[in-house]
Amino acid sequence: MTYTRKQLETFLALEDFQEIYAQADALRAETVGDIVHIRALLEFSNHCKRLCCYCGLNATDKNLPRFRMDPRDMISTAQEACQAGYKTIVLQSGEDPWYTPDMIGEVVKQIKKTGMAVTLSCGEHPESVYQYWRDCGADRYLLEHETSDPKLYATLHPDSSLEARVACLRSLKRIGYETGGGFMIGLPGQTLSTIAGDLLLLQEIGCDMAGIGPFIPHPDTPLREATPGSTELTKRAVALARLLLPRANLPATTALGVLDDAQKENVFSCGANVIMRKVTPNNLKKLYQIYPAAFSDVDIRTGRLETEAEIRSLNRTPV
Ligand code: SAH
Repeated sequence: MTYTRKQLETFLALEDFQEIYAQADALRAETVGDIVHIRALLEFSNHCKRLCCYCGLNATDKNLPRFRMDPRDMISTAQEACQAGYKTIVLQSGEDPWYTPDMIGEVVKQIKKTGMAVTLSCGEHPESVYQYWRDCGADRYLLEHETSDPKLYATLHPDSSLEARVACLRSLKRIGYETGGGFMIGLPGQTLSTIAGDLLLLQEIGCDMAGIGPFIPHPDTPLREATPGSTELTKRAVALARLLLPRANLPATTALGVLDDAQKENVFSCGANVIMRKVTPNNLKKLYQIYPAAFSDVDIRTGRLETEAEIRSLNRTPV
């Protein structure tokens, strides 16, 4: 489907959005079916050299105890996730130069031996590094573009630019990764027109996945006083993303569940078909707070069974 920026902006502002939710849900059923993919999320380092104003891991927060997992522990956690039934593991971190490209590449190779798909989500790197990790077997890469407004991007990321971010996404796509973009809803200074631009950028890049979640202010960041993003607007953006990218994998982002647990169900009925579940070791989970969130400390297998049950209760099939 193609829409203009103005059309998308008008949709986002509709008094009654039910018709578009229904369209998005029908298209989801037709293109990706009733299956909900459960991805294991391993947050392996909370060290970060970046200054992203909204993120609880940003380099200026000197109070946060930092951790990094040993590559051997990353591999054994992935093996445990595999035994619990996961088919994909997402390796996510801050931008932590302690891990050399070779170290990450080796972790990817070892995890691939389990048969699981590997998604990387560790920020911006040169194209040659992305290529090397792809050669090691990485299947997918998540790199949210955060906002399509270049000025807002520069304000929120004093050490980076939208241009550089989008160049990374284009490299990933070119190299042949299943490429995931995405953005936050409710960033201070964002308008409906910005969100319309965010949606069009996903389509222009040709994203295979898109993480769209509400911004949640973190108390140890410059944006601590800001208002959280709207869950309704987030669901609307997910539904429109489904219409623009009919076959995409669209997660019901963790942030959405954080704001309002009841919304998780709704987000599955407006186009989403993926959910992530943390497999990060319990003593480290609480230190990986990109935004403030409650976390469960059950073991990996129990967590997986809980998520499967939730999905079945929504009449969808967990995979
Ligand atoms: N360092 C990696 C991983 C970032 S964390 C990278 O740069 O890609 C994954 C995503 O969490 C971010 O891309 C951002 O969209 C989201 N995020 C970060 N802080 C947030 C906040 N305060 N509220 C909501 N989402 C946030």
